[in-house]
Amino acid sequence: MIINSGDRLRLVERAGTEIREHQRSVPEREFYLRKITDTWRRAEGTEAYSELPEYSFETFEKLDVTSKNQLKKAPFSFLTAPMEDAAKYYETTGTTGLPTPTPRLAEDVIWNTVSVAEAWRDLLPEKERVLIMLPSDIVPVADLVVGVCEYLGRPHARAYPFATGISDWDRLIELCRSFRPNTVFIAPGVALQFSRLIRQRGLAPELSAGVQRMMLLGEVSTAPFRARLGRWWDASVLDASYGSTETGTLAAACARDRLHLLTATNYFELAGEDGTIRPLPESGSGRLVVTPLNLHARCVLRLDTGDDVRLGTRCDCGDGAPVIEVSGRGSDAVAVRGAKLTVRAVEEVVFGETEATGYLLETDAPGTFARLILERDVCWDRAGEALMADRLQHSSREVLGLEWDEVLFVNQLPASTKSGASQKSWKRSNFRLVGADG
Ligand SMILES: [Zn+2]
Repeated sequence: MIINSGDRLRLVERAGTEIREHQRSVPEREFYLRKITDTWRRAEGTEAYSELPEYSFETFEKLDVTSKNQLKKAPFSFLTAPMEDAAKYYETTGTTGLPTPTPRLAEDVIWNTVSVAEAWRDLLPEKERVLIMLPSDIVPVADLVVGVCEYLGRPHARAYPFATGISDWDRLIELCRSFRPNTVFIAPGVALQFSRLIRQRGLAPELSAGVQRMMLLGEVSTAPFRARLGRWWDASVLDASYGSTETGTLAAACARDRLHLLTATNYFELAGEDGTIRPLPESGSGRLVVTPLNLHARCVLRLDTGDDVRLGTRCDCGDGAPVIEVSGRGSDAVAVRGAKLTVRAVEEVVFGETEATGYLLETDAPGTFARLILERDVCWDRAGEALMADRLQHSSREVLGLEWDEVLFVNQLPASTKSGASQKSWKRSNFRLVGADG
């Protein structure tokens, strides 16, 4: 219940009007000039930007980028308001280092919620029953989806299966039977565990019958993984959004499983390898630089997200905002025997070629040894494993440029490979370092 005054209600309506007018297209220059001026003014009140020169758009375009590291090192210096003015307090759960404190004013919550809700409006039609299997504590992800459902007026329930003392798998299955959700918001790792569990118990036909769509968020998900999950559930599976706790949501899914930039709430630029920054081109690739236009508790100008993205894919869904493909960070890749393994490439092999319900990569410290361990699906033909291993090796040579020293099949992988905690990096959850003798 964040709307507790006429002012806040009017802000919801104003945000809705502005976003419906400018999102799903590329707004005019005048719109950005106005929004960036306001953002600059707010930034002037922070310690981090206290030395800002007089504003002009030309000055803005010459301003040094702010790195994620700067933000993480001195998070308080980017705050515009004291903690007691916040409506919500969150922390980011970065894959490295300390959590970043992230207070949010009502303005932050309202603008981000409305922007995402308007982007997902077609995906969440009237009377859609929404199940939110995301964590509620400390991180904002479940609150955001709840806010979107409230704004759109869709019935919804939160049920994170790891809320000790409240919710577990048995409770969740009963809840699904009563509530019969059509759309499920879920982290990829939790989706793996849930799918496996209901198939083990023979409940898949019953529980998947009403589910038409799964919206994945909280962790990286790949297209081959989504396709595999879609077949298990006979549902459409989408990568729901892209963004971070520091910036708010930067792109949201359309029905064609593409991510469209949220152009009404962010000003995007692209950094080249030589560090030059240019306004967002129609097509091309580089590191995404963003100035969020409606951050109030914290301000950041020209934040280098560190994420490599590609632009230029056309989408005929009706959303005219640019489509991006996030190829991740160079630092997220793992080098093994000269091959650079990325989550996308590995999952193309694993989920593209097999029915495995999970995987683990084992390497030694120098990266000279590589073993692939696959988790057998509930129904599985063990006699076909040798043939499957051959197929995997062939596909790995082509896609990864690597042949595995060993391919193993196990009945169950450790739960850490399907963390679903929205905080583990791929490297931590799906890699294990072993001694040279394996
Ligand atoms: Zn689209």
